[in-house]
Amino acid sequence: MMRLVIRKHAPRVLPGSLITLRRKCGKAACRCATGEPHESPALSYSVAGRTKMLTLTPEEVDEVAQAVACYRNAVNELEAEARVELDNLVARVQARRASKR
Ligand SMILES: [Zn+2]
Repeated sequence: MMRLVIRKHAPRVLPGSLITLRRKCGKAACRCATGEPHESPALSYSVAGRTKMLTLTPEEVDEVAQAVACYRNAVNELEAEARVELDNLVARVQARRASKR
């Protein structure tokens, strides 16, 4: 049987966003029944078009927030670079067509 090795290290990049889940636990005597709901940090991400939530411990929040920001920055940089390359390619193809006329 294959065993999943769970490495304990800070993730470098993570997709999704950090959110706060708010919920009532359902116990009639709990403070959340009449007052503030329970809050827990979570990573919201999507897999094959479906949104998933991963509840985090307070200790995990900082590293997850950093990895989410790193992922977002990397995606933005890649998109900006791709946009420039696309503009260059479009200009080159248009110039080639113009010179053939
Ligand atoms: Zn409760």
